[in-house]
Amino acid sequence: MDATGLITLEDVTKTHAPGDSAAVSGLSFTLRQREILALLGPSGSGKTTTLRLIAGFDRPDGGRILLNGAPLSGDGMWIEPEERRIGMVFQDYALFPHLTLLDNVMFGLRNGTRKSRTEAALRVLDVVGMEELARRYPHEISGGQQQRVALARALAPNPLVLLLDEPFSNLDFDMRAEMREELLRILRASETSAVMVTHDQEEALAVADRVGVLNHGVLEQLSEPEVLYRQPETRFVAEFVGQSDFVAGVVRDGIETEVGKFSNDSGWPAGAKVDLLVRPDEVGIEACADGEGLVTRRQFRGAENIYHLTLPSGAQIRSSQPSTRALAADTRVRVTVRPANIIVFPCAPELHDLGSKD
Ligand code: ADP
Ligand code: MG
Repeated sequence: MDATGLITLEDVTKTHAPGDSAAVSGLSFTLRQREILALLGPSGSGKTTTLRLIAGFDRPDGGRILLNGAPLSGDGMWIEPEERRIGMVFQDYALFPHLTLLDNVMFGLRNGTRKSRTEAALRVLDVVGMEELARRYPHEISGGQQQRVALARALAPNPLVLLLDEPFSNLDFDMRAEMREELLRILRASETSAVMVTHDQEEALAVADRVGVLNHGVLEQLSEPEVLYRQPETRFVAEFVGQSDFVAGVVRDGIETEVGKFSNDSGWPAGAKVDLLVRPDEVGIEACADGEGLVTRRQFRGAENIYHLTLPSGAQIRSSQPSTRALAADTRVRVTVRPANIIVFPCAPELHDLGSKD
């Protein structure tokens, strides 16, 4: 991948109202050419604020934002949103209800004759599969179609970067997967770089080249999807991305836990109490009368079964198994944990208290 930075944020900070805590703070990252970057985080974590700062709808309190190395804001510079060549698709699409779809798309096209702007708008409506409905009004089309039009409107001026705020959140489940593929196709075909914001981790992992995780306005990690899942750098990332359970451990000759001993790769000091991250796909189970695990629940998910297990300490972990394999609740199982990477965090007291109850 081309490593040239297209958009760069350097130590960007924004507080919306006096007395509030910062909506984003110390935010630094780079969007590369032709990259699709997802920003993932819970509601209120600063995702929309980040997009608005990049687009120029909000002014940062500190830090710099650069496009192709030239400052858009910071150091006393300020480039108006319409001069930035950055397109934004708003979460609610924000189509103009009194304008046809064609006029909605033409709205952002300032240059050229009416004829050339009409042709350009129809071309981009064609790209999103909406050309035939160009004379309709927003209320005459479905949510998915409105989304396509909002996308067309943002793409029409041929932006260098597209910003998408929760682009699929108003679509029903079937539509989401379809639009996700469609969006990827359109972005790749037009070689548009994009920052997509979502609170849906599956969406972020499936769509993006890299995913950044925001927590209270702080970017905790920015990595490729697999790295985010397999090597989370913070407990928040570990818990927010993918299904995660923790098992209490003590560092002695390795990390000793009730599901086995693991190598102390990151060199925790002897005696340290830690929590080992365990993903359901790392947990094997085998029915066994004197097994240490007890199946408390089977959650059928179509292709897989998620087994909820209780360990002797009372700790609960989950195991993902093909759904062709069915074990009843109350089955005793031998538990084998094979972590792809050994990820541990300083202990959370409640996990360790579980073990000391008896
Ligand atoms: P997200 O998109 O991740 O849900 P936002 O960026 O919208 O988060 O919000 C981040 C924080 O900033 C929240 O605490 C939110 O209440 C606050 N905030 C966002 N916009 C404004 C605003 N215009 N005025 C005051 N506070 C705001
Ligand atoms: Mg938001």
